[in-house]
This record gives sequence, structure tokens and C-alpha cells, in this order.
Amino acid sequence: MKLTEKIKASWSPHPLYMFEFFPPRTDQGFENLIARISRLCALNPLAISVTWGAGGSTRERSLDLAGLTQTEYGVDTLLHLTCTNMELGMVEDVLRTAKERGIQNILALRGDPPRGEEEWIAVDPRFKHATDLVKFIRSSPEFASHFCIGVAAYPDGHSESTLDEDAELAFLKDKVDAGADFIVTQLFYDVDRFLKWLKKVREKGITVPVIAGIMPIQTYGSFARLIKLCGIRVPQDIMDDLAPISHDDQLVKDYGVKLAVDTIQRLTKESDVAAVHFYTLNLEKSVQRVLELLQWTGVPAPNHNKLIAETPGNTIH
Ligand code: FAD
Repeated sequence: MKLTEKIKASWSPHPLYMFEFFPPRTDQGFENLIARISRLCALNPLAISVTWGAGGSTRERSLDLAGLTQTEYGVDTLLHLTCTNMELGMVEDVLRTAKERGIQNILALRGDPPRGEEEWIAVDPRFKHATDLVKFIRSSPEFASHFCIGVAAYPDGHSESTLDEDAELAFLKDKVDAGADFIVTQLFYDVDRFLKWLKKVREKGITVPVIAGIMPIQTYGSFARLIKLCGIRVPQDIMDDLAPISHDDQLVKDYGVKLAVDTIQRLTKESDVAAVHFYTLNLEKSVQRVLELLQWTGVPAPNHNKLIAETPGNTIH
């Protein structure tokens, strides 16, 4: 089913949620991931989202994983697809295969330059930005009405961009005007900034559902690498909370869970986000704990009081 139709039909009193996974490189990794996904599917997500490797490097594995979650597990699947580092023929083939496998949701992306290359050269001159992929799908008689299309947005700004926020929002509006049905955001930790950004999105006349990107912090090292790579702003109080526990993976994980819960609770109260997109890093425990603490799964959180009492910067009641 198309995600926007599911969102519209939902009676949930809180935002819906989906889980992002990347296809593992090995068969064993694939099997392990499938076991995790099947457990997380029991939590009734809006969708499973499956990432796409640069230049189609994970083409078969992304399509296999997405086909499996869509058909075997019966969970609506959002297949990510980049365009600027792939030939047009490959884009068409992938869309065709996705359609054959029952996938109805595509996250239309530009993609990043291959690792180590600073110069950006589009493989096909017709695909320079994600907008071009949205337009391509919408203009194709084969795909136009079949796919519900999502696009990416960056509340902290795109890491490579030299543009100001207004110009970035104008390009976001172009993607929606070209036919995108919903927006999925980059992960963020500065909730005040996100809320201001979302207000500006709405003021620009962008009315489609926004799905907020949340990544529970797993380890200090991976967190530090990712925020640097993606240009994510982190409020000083979060850095101060993390500094004394950075060497202790379990305390960092606990903190990450609590921070995600706090963030989602604020988004639920203070914004119109339609859903939360969990960047799982292919891990299941933290996301599961977040949903339990939010009491969105119908299952009581086993260590609720302990976690609340022991986590630095505690504000949950
Ligand atoms: P665009 O929308 O094309 O924007 C890229 C930049 O160009 C922005 O600064 C934008 O403002 C600017 N721009 C847009 N249109 C124009 C124009 N007409 N003229 C001038 N400038 C313009 N990457 C992967 O490789 N695989 C994935 O699976 C993947 N999943 C992602 C999921 C999410 C939720 C997000 C947020 C990102 C994901 N990415 C993924 C990363 C993404 O491919 C990169 O961030 C990429 O650099 C930008 O992609 P985009 O679709 O946002 O590009």
C-alpha cells in the first residue's frame, strides 16, 4: 500500500514509525538481519525502509531485501533509490523490478559522489538532482500512478550545501511540486531547530506528510563519526551529558534511548510529524526499547524506572 494512504487512514493517536535497514554484505549477515526484521515487524511499523548503495552497488541485495519484506513479511516497503550515479536504464530496471515485487514506495534521492571523489559528475545528464528522478517517475506511464514517492530533507542543512535555508527549502518545494508525496528527514538532535525548520516548511506551502529521522545513539564513536559526516548539529547539553559516559557503551546506549524518547515525545506534542523514521543501523534493541518506553507497542517497558533513574539529563516522568 502507498504510505500516504496508510498515514491518511491511520487512527493512531501518535505518529506512526518505520525502520530503516541497509542490506548486509554476507549471506549470514542477511539471515541475521531477516531474523531481526521479523521480530521488529511484530511491532506493526508503517513500513520497512531499505537503503540503496552508491551507484547501485547494493542493487541485488537491496531489491532482494525489499522484495522479501514486502512479499514474505507483508510489510509495506520503502525502497531508497539514487539517480545521479546510475545510468537511466538501471533506474528503469530497478523501478520495474520493484513494481513486479509489489513495492509501491520509493525514496527518490540524488545520491552521493563515490567515496574518495570530490568532483561531482552525473552519470546521466538528465539526472542531476533528486527532483529529476521524481519527474521521471511521474512522467512515466509505467510508473507514475504505481509509486508513492518520498524525498529527503535536511533540517540542519545539507552537509555539502553552500545555500541558505530559504534556497534549500525552495528546492525541497520543487521536489514536492514535481510530484513527491512525503518527506523523510535526515537525523537530527536539535529539536528546537527542527521545530523551527518544520514551521518554515509549512510556511513555504509544503503540506505533504513529514517523517522525522531519529537515530538512537548506539556508541559514542559511531555517533561522533556520523554527526561529523552528515553535518548534524548537536546541542551542547547533549555533548556535556555524553562526555563522562563516552567510554561506557551500555550507558551511551541507555542515554541514546532516553534521548530518542524525549525527542519523539516533544515531536508528538509540538509538531505535525506523521511518522518517525528510525535509523536502526541494522540493530533492534534500542529501537524496541524506545517504542516500549513510549508505550506505543502495547508491551510495558521492562526496565522503565531503572532506565529513567540512571540516565543522565533525565527529564522523563
Ligand atoms: P537533492 O534533493 O538533489 O539535493 C542535493 C543538494 O542539491 C541540496 O543541497 C539541494 O538544495 C541542492 N539542489 C536540489 N535541486 C537543485 C537544483 N535544481 N539546482 C541547484 N541545487 C539543487 N544516499 C544513498 O546513497 N543511499 C540511500 O539509501 C540514502 N538514503 C537516504 C535517506 C534519507 C532519509 C536521507 C536524508 C538521505 C539519504 N541518502 C542516501 C543520502 C543522499 O543521497 C545524500 O544526502 C545526497 O547528497 C543528497 O540527496 P537528495 O536526494 O537530498 O538530493
